[in-house]
Amino acid sequence: MINTVDKTSFRRLFFALTLPDTLQQNMVQWRADNFPPQAGRPIAAANLHLTLAFLGEVSHAKAQVLQQQAGRISQPGFNVTLDDIGHWPGSGVVWLGCKNPPRGLLQLAQLLRSQAARSGCYQAPLPFHPHVTLFRGAIRPVAIPARTTNEIFPVNSFSLYESVFARGRTRYKIVQSWPLAAREEKEI
Ligand code: ATP
Ligand code: MG
Repeated sequence: MINTVDKTSFRRLFFALTLPDTLQQNMVQWRADNFPPQAGRPIAAANLHLTLAFLGEVSHAKAQVLQQQAGRISQPGFNVTLDDIGHWPGSGVVWLGCKNPPRGLLQLAQLLRSQAARSGCYQAPLPFHPHVTLFRGAIRPVAIPARTTNEIFPVNSFSLYESVFARGRTRYKIVQSWPLAAREEKEI
């Protein structure tokens, strides 16, 4: 028997929240107005996202299991407020985040990460710190603006993304999305 692994069936996958188009555009404008050009490598508007769980290189069969499990998640939507900002010089990342992440966001990420771990997708032992990466390659000191955009966006779904590197750039493609349940009226 020929024992070959079909490399093409492995994809680089992660679960993430999509940011609304207008928010992506606003963030890029705000970034241009508030950071010097040498701060780092700016992430393209369409690539701004909030990662929930990173899966790594995943086989088709394993992805199917993870997609089935994601489809069984039942929890209400929530709002995310991007009111925090920071710089991790070690990883060269400048980010926007939440001072007080909503419980729904933490629960969703926790569930996806534990399902991923049970399927054998390595999960770093670091606590989950929800963030949107603004710059990569920011390894020198960066003057961080005192205030963020303070944008609030509603989250009513989450998605599985494939990360594709081609012709010198990384693009993300949505593989599948799942709705979150309707919220109680008082929370909207
Ligand atoms: P590139 O690596 O090509 O510069 P990228 O980091 O945006 O671009 P990926 O490395 O495919 O693309 O990562 C996709 C998403 O998963 C990003 O949000 C990234 O921060 C996150 N990610 C990547 N590697 C890990 C990891 N080892 N642990 C946790 N999250 C990760
Ligand atoms: Mg990367």
